[in-house]
Amino acid sequence: MRYVVVSGGVLSGLGKGVTASSIGVLLKAAGLRVTAVKIDPYLNTDAGTMSPFEHGEVFVLDDGGEVDLDLGNYERFLDINLGKDNNITTGKIYSKVLEAERRGDYLGKTVQVIPHITDAVQEWIEDVAKQPADGSLEEPDVCVIELGGTVGDIESAPFVEALRQFQFRVGIENCCFVHVSLVPVIGVVGEQKTKPTQHTVQVLRGLGISPDMLVCRSETPLADEVREKLALFCHVKPEAVLSASDVSNIYHVPLVLEEQGVSQMLSERLKFDLPDSRPLLDDWRAMAARVDGLEGEVHIAMVGKYTGLSDSYLSVIKSLQHASFAVGRKLVIDWIEASHLEDLNGDISEDVVKQNAEAWELLKKADGILVPGGFGDRGIEGKIIAAGYARENNVPYLGICLGLQVAVIEFCRNVLGWTGANSTEFDEQTPHPVVVFMPEISKTHLGGTMRLGSRATLFQVDSCKTKSLYGSEEHVDERHRHRYEVNPDCVDAIESNGLTFVGKDRSGQRCEIFELKSHPYFVGTQYHPEFKTRPNRPSPPFLGLLKAATQQ
Ligand code: GLN
Repeated sequence: MRYVVVSGGVLSGLGKGVTASSIGVLLKAAGLRVTAVKIDPYLNTDAGTMSPFEHGEVFVLDDGGEVDLDLGNYERFLDINLGKDNNITTGKIYSKVLEAERRGDYLGKTVQVIPHITDAVQEWIEDVAKQPADGSLEEPDVCVIELGGTVGDIESAPFVEALRQFQFRVGIENCCFVHVSLVPVIGVVGEQKTKPTQHTVQVLRGLGISPDMLVCRSETPLADEVREKLALFCHVKPEAVLSASDVSNIYHVPLVLEEQGVSQMLSERLKFDLPDSRPLLDDWRAMAARVDGLEGEVHIAMVGKYTGLSDSYLSVIKSLQHASFAVGRKLVIDWIEASHLEDLNGDISEDVVKQNAEAWELLKKADGILVPGGFGDRGIEGKIIAAGYARENNVPYLGICLGLQVAVIEFCRNVLGWTGANSTEFDEQTPHPVVVFMPEISKTHLGGTMRLGSRATLFQVDSCKTKSLYGSEEHVDERHRHRYEVNPDCVDAIESNGLTFVGKDRSGQRCEIFELKSHPYFVGTQYHPEFKTRPNRPSPPFLGLLKAATQQ
C-alpha cells in the first residue's frame, strides 16, 4: 500500500480536498486502485450533529456514515464508494482508545497521546486503506489521506505526529507528502508573495514532516523566480513546487497538475510504472473542454435556508451541474431565501418589501425550482409556497427530502383542502399531521439516529418519469437522512387526487418518490439523490429536472 498525505497551510478553504481528489485522479489514471481517507481534527464523532452553516453540507454514505463533504469530492472524482471509517475524527479515535482503556487493554500503562492516540490513528488508516472502494473486491493500491484543518493548529497536532511516525511504519518509499499553501498576489503590479508558504512549511518541517511537493494556490500562475525561491526556502525540488492558479472549471485541476509532471514525480517517488496511454485523462480533458463550451443558460431557483453559503448544499449544486452538462446548458442557480417568499403579514418596512419582491422575481423567472433537504421550521412556509407555485404554474419542481415533505403539505392544504395540514416536526398540534415522526427514531439522541444510508426504493408502477430516468430499473438504492415521513394514513387520499407515490420502500409503507400527474415534472424524493451523482452520470431525478427545465 502506498500513501499520499495532503496537508494544508496558511488558511482553510484553499481547495485541499479538490487537490487531494485530483491527485487521486492522476493515480487512478495511472492504473492504480485508489481509496481516500479524510482526517477531521474535531471532537465530534461525525459531522451528523454539525450545522451546515458552520461546516458545510453533511455528506451521507451508503453505510449511513454522516461525514465531511470532502468525502463527496472523493466519491465524485474517483467514482468510488467510501464507508464511515474513511472519515477519521478526533472523537472517533479518542472513543476507541478510551473504550480500550475501560476494558483494561492497557492495564498498568499510562494512556497518552503518544503512543496510544498516535498508534490508534495509524492502525485506523492502515485498516481502512485496505477496504475495497471501487465496487470490486480488490484491495486498493494507494490511499490518499487528507489532513483537515491547518498545520500548526493544536487540534491537528496528534494527527501530524501520527503521520510523521507513519512514514517509518510503512516505509519512506511508500509514503509521500503534499502540502497545499497560498501564494497571495498583492500590490498594483500583482506581486506573488512567498512568505506565508515559507512559514507554513517551516511549521510542518518543525513537526518532522518534509513535503515532497508544494501545491501553491494563487490567482495567477506562479512566476519562475517565485517557484525557485519557494524551492530554496522550503527544501523542495523546484519542479515539485506546483502552481495551482484559478481555473475556469474544477475538472481542469488534475490536468493542470499533470502538465507540471505530477504523475511522473509520483511514479518515481512511490515506484509504480506509468502506462503509455491513460484514457481516463483523455476523458477529463474532454469533460473540462465540454464544460467550458456550454452555451445558453438554464435558471434553477434553489429555495432554501442556507442560501448565503453554497457549501451547505454542495452535492445538490454538483448534481445540478452534472445534469446541466448532460443537457448542454450553463447552469445558473438563483438562490432564494425561503422566508423571503412568505406573506408580509402587513409588514411594510422597506427592506422586507424589497426582499419579498426580489425573491418573487427570481422564482417567477426560474426554468425549474428545487427545494433541498433541511431541518427546523425557519422558512418552511416559504418552501411550501414555492412548491405550490411550481405545482400550479407547471414549473418543473424537484423536492428533496424536506422538499418532498413540503410539497405534500402544500398539496394536502390546497388540493385536499386540509386547512392547517403540516409536519409534526413544525407543528405538533396540527389537525392534519400529513408528515409524521418515524416510529423507530430516537427522541433523546440526535447523533446517528436518523434513518440513514442506502435503502431500496421499489417502483410501484410499470412506467413513470422517474422510473424511466433510472433506466427502468425495478428498484433503486439511494441514500437517506431523515426522521419524518409521509403519514401512511394519508396516502390514499393524496393519491386519489393525483399525487402518486410511485416509489416506496420494501415494506410498501414508506413513501420514497412522488410524481404529479398532468404536470411536466413535479417530483419529490424522500431520499437524497444528490449523494450519488457523477460528472458523467448525473443523478436521474436531477437530470429529469434539467430536461424538463430546458424542454428536452
Ligand atoms: N427534517 C426532515 C426530516 O427529518 C427532512 C430531513 C432532510 O431534509 N434531510 O424528515
